[in-house]
Amino acid sequence: MKNRIGIVGGGQLARMLTIAAKQLGFVVTVLDPTPNAPAGQVADAQIVGDLNNETAMMQLATHSDFLTLEWELANPYLLGKIAQKGIPVNPSAKTLEIIKDKYEQKLFLQKAGIPVADFVEVKTKHDIEHAGEKFGYPLLLKAKIGAYDGRGNFLIKTKQDIAKGLEKLGSTNLYVEKFVPFEKELAIMVARNTNGEIVTYPVVETIHKNNILHITLAPAPIEKTLAKKAEMLARKTMQQLKGAGVFGIEMFLTRSASFHSDKSSERAGQAKVLINEIAPRVHNSGHYTIEPCITSQFEQHIRAITGLPLGKTTMLTKAAVMVNILGEHERKATVEGLEKALQLPGVSVHIYGKKETRKERKMGHITAIGDSLEQCLRSAKKARSYLSI
Ligand code: AMP
Repeated sequence: MKNRIGIVGGGQLARMLTIAAKQLGFVVTVLDPTPNAPAGQVADAQIVGDLNNETAMMQLATHSDFLTLEWELANPYLLGKIAQKGIPVNPSAKTLEIIKDKYEQKLFLQKAGIPVADFVEVKTKHDIEHAGEKFGYPLLLKAKIGAYDGRGNFLIKTKQDIAKGLEKLGSTNLYVEKFVPFEKELAIMVARNTNGEIVTYPVVETIHKNNILHITLAPAPIEKTLAKKAEMLARKTMQQLKGAGVFGIEMFLTRSASFHSDKSSERAGQAKVLINEIAPRVHNSGHYTIEPCITSQFEQHIRAITGLPLGKTTMLTKAAVMVNILGEHERKATVEGLEKALQLPGVSVHIYGKKETRKERKMGHITAIGDSLEQCLRSAKKARSYLSI
């Protein structure tokens, strides 16, 4: 029986994937450079090695009937080589190649007729000035590759900021995007299994601080028609991508008519949903699924990549709120306040097992489930205030 899963990366996503896989009886090996990494602590075995090291990746392949990843920047050449050995790799190397370059990703979405913010590739200061004239300010200067949690983005408020932006992001592999004055940021987790079956999770609202996800509200407090629209776009996006797995799709909800150059299709005040970014993996905005949903995003991913039927995504509670536990210190990680936090009804705490805490590092998360978003938000925030790590 094929029951061995290899995961490229051993952080919190791999940890929660491993826990779900173990529950279904799989044997899990993870590859990560840090000994006893968060996922290594719960997996059957960890290979300590660099994620782009060919020997380490091939060693992982010898322990895998199915290979998956928590790190979308894994080397597509190595993943392709493993797939050629007959080991299913999901998400597929092809999908990762489209997604890992944010500019290529935007082109791909645009070609598929999926609405995105206006964008253009830029190679020189002059190109950015030209984009500024076309789109107006502010503008977002973005690195095409290697950016996450907002690293690799620079807000150009006026023409005077262009030089600073180029200095910060380097002058190659850049594009600019029109600033979207969004009302809310939304996200939706979508899964497809190896048989092509697609399921979507409820649309959620995500609240970021310093470009890092801070809070998820599930379901998003938006009109039903907008939630349907977001779900339809997420489905359409998934139909264009190859391979199996869970994907996180980030979106902007805007009611402004003036930001988009396609004014003809826009009437003032009309709501519009745009896709911001696709993550080809389980995602922080889907962590809330563990407690309220029939199938968590982690179990769903394991089902999807191993050819099992997908599970139902329905929430069994009216509401859920996830709050990230971001590091506040630079020190060895020690959890305090757990007892007090867990006294709150409907509150669950997940600690990722990272040895060192650093400012803004994702150290864990809290989920509160209940009858209303207000009540869940209150409980989750209260729990967060009791915890220190
Ligand atoms: P990214 O890593 O490119 O998804 O960007 C990180 C965060 O920056 C997003 O979650 C948004 O809050 C913000 N952002 C990114 N692109 C835009 C845009 N075109 N307009 C306004 N805000 C943006």
